[in-house]
Amino acid sequence: MAQNVPNFSFSENAIKVRQFLYEFWCANGAGPNLRDTHEATGLSRRDIMQAYRELDLGVMIVIDQDTESVNLLKCMPFSAFPSQVKLFIHGKFHSYLGCAMEAMAASKMPPFAGIEVRLESYCSCCLAPVSVTMKDGALAAANPGSALIHVSLSPWYWNTTNVMKMCDSMNYMIDPSHAERYERQSGRRGAVFTLQQAINFVARGTSQRMWDPHRVPDFIRPEEVLDGFKMLGVDTSVWER
Ligand SMILES: [Zn+2]
Repeated sequence: MAQNVPNFSFSENAIKVRQFLYEFWCANGAGPNLRDTHEATGLSRRDIMQAYRELDLGVMIVIDQDTESVNLLKCMPFSAFPSQVKLFIHGKFHSYLGCAMEAMAASKMPPFAGIEVRLESYCSCCLAPVSVTMKDGALAAANPGSALIHVSLSPWYWNTTNVMKMCDSMNYMIDPSHAERYERQSGRRGAVFTLQQAINFVARGTSQRMWDPHRVPDFIRPEEVLDGFKMLGVDTSVWER
């Protein structure tokens, strides 16, 4: 919803709904509609709507706030629309993932424990394939081995209304020269993450997501995000004054 939201706690309804969303999306590869959520939680339309708004504010999901049915756009790490990353489980398409960065978190979801999952994506500049294999949150293989993640939006512009622009800006590149080409194509500069730096960046959230049913809300605080990037050894000079 916004940057620098003050600390708050999720209600019991939001906690119940979040757990259901994870379970449903992992099992079905797509999100539930309001009736699915109602049947599973026993909550009324209005209670579900308010739980979704809370979860959006706490950066767990993204809803289209303009819709009467509070349309679910994302339940991180999943995406309700065809995004830049496909998740394959046991060699079969399972779901779309939120972005290149979020994709690095998918294999850590409890229902996928012990399973080697494959992320199928592409270099954003030339659409050549990029494939990443992961298990239990760790990198198993990447093809090409030079693949990296380019983030074209400064954290100072993340979550000004929701995380859609942020996710949109996180893409795989074949190597630094392709990242440079994408910068010229898109007219935006950005920071570059190795796949391991990306895994380390998402690690805090993935160790709790669905594992801890009472996980507290997330908050987008640009200064803290940038400090975290620097601690990972990411060059953030492109965004500095
Ligand atoms: Zn390329």
